[in-house]
Amino acid sequence: MITVAEAKKKIDETVSPLPEKTVAISDALGCRLHKSIPAPINVPDFVSSIMDGVAFRHEDLTGAGPWRLPIQAVIGAGRDEVTPLRPGHAIKIMTGAKLIPGSDTVVKVEDVEFEDDVAVIREMVNRGNFVRPLGDDIEKGSLLFEAGVTVTPVVAGVLASVGLQNIEVIPYPRVTIISTGSEIIEPGHELRPGQRYDSNRTVLYSLLEHDGMPANIINHVIPDQRRELEQILRESMEDSDLVITSGGVSMGDFDYIPDVVARLGGEILFHKVTVKPGKPVLIARIGKSWLIGLPGNPVSVVAGYHLHARRVISRLMGKEYRPRTARARLGQDVHFPSDRFGMLGAMLEDHNGEIIAIPAVRQQSGRLSSAAEINGFIMIEENVQSMLAGETADVEWLYHWPIDGSE
Ligand code: AMP
Ligand code: MG
Repeated sequence: MITVAEAKKKIDETVSPLPEKTVAISDALGCRLHKSIPAPINVPDFVSSIMDGVAFRHEDLTGAGPWRLPIQAVIGAGRDEVTPLRPGHAIKIMTGAKLIPGSDTVVKVEDVEFEDDVAVIREMVNRGNFVRPLGDDIEKGSLLFEAGVTVTPVVAGVLASVGLQNIEVIPYPRVTIISTGSEIIEPGHELRPGQRYDSNRTVLYSLLEHDGMPANIINHVIPDQRRELEQILRESMEDSDLVITSGGVSMGDFDYIPDVVARLGGEILFHKVTVKPGKPVLIARIGKSWLIGLPGNPVSVVAGYHLHARRVISRLMGKEYRPRTARARLGQDVHFPSDRFGMLGAMLEDHNGEIIAIPAVRQQSGRLSSAAEINGFIMIEENVQSMLAGETADVEWLYHWPIDGSE
């Protein structure tokens, strides 16, 4: 049995990043770049107009205005007109269109009067007015992103803007979710005495999806039988970087996961952590893959995913795990009759920057509905059994977006 702090340290020290992989930019969101990326082109790759307007040669605005410049052509965006501008002439030009040779200055259409085919310009402007130079956004050959940068939505857009479609990243792990338990059945079947419906796969799948990873689900519940567990784990490990199971890691006669891990030659990182809920958790390396065996109790699954799986996934993706945390004020007294580290489900509300934590009622690891409306946890240090309303405590958010408009 180890402490939460020790468990975190073990994961951080042991789980190393997955090998890099080339993926479509659209699949890279949230991943880190494996290599630095120099800009392969200038953006834009031509001199263009920033406005809908009139382009001309600045030196043609001689003497006192107004200046009258016959319109030689109308140039829309996307056109590559090579005929040079005749002296004393102008072109009508649209936003984003390429300037024609000889033109160097733009006046926006609102500031131009048109008399038949002649543009009348009344106000002097600077040379280069409203002209976007070559490489104004990105200069060819410059360092676009350093290795290690996380692909945010806008980073993805910048990569697309230089024409890239695929990039090398540390990918998301391939995750497989397995529910175990001879009493557990899938929704859609009739409940027999002693059975209950599987909610853990749905919760885990949804949490992974929320974190950006579509997971593979083993679509039937594995009963508490050594052979079957061993076979399904062995198969799952082959094409997964991480397998998350629920159930079968405790002290019961039919809790076979630790046994099966040993039979598969797994190396146990730890089994049992002094945390409530979720004490029996087991983490092991089997070959190149990782196994997180969560206890079956549905709230332990939520807490265990947050505490351990997110950390393992971050490490596999070459990231430091940084949950969103705060010091929050307790909205109510907290009684936590355990010596273990506590994760108490709570609604975290933002009151003009002050976070108020309101613990959920009727909390117990077996009551999933008691956690339905939490959006985070109050993290209770070991040996702390009560805190008073108004005191501050460490909290962590479970979700990256508000579930109730309170944030
Ligand atoms: P275990 O960790 O296997 O001892 O299971 C602890 C409790 O969680 C038992 O009451 C199980 O019936 C329940 N449980 C296990 N797996 C699931 C599941 N997938 N969905 C809902 N409850 C479960
Ligand atoms: Mg069980």
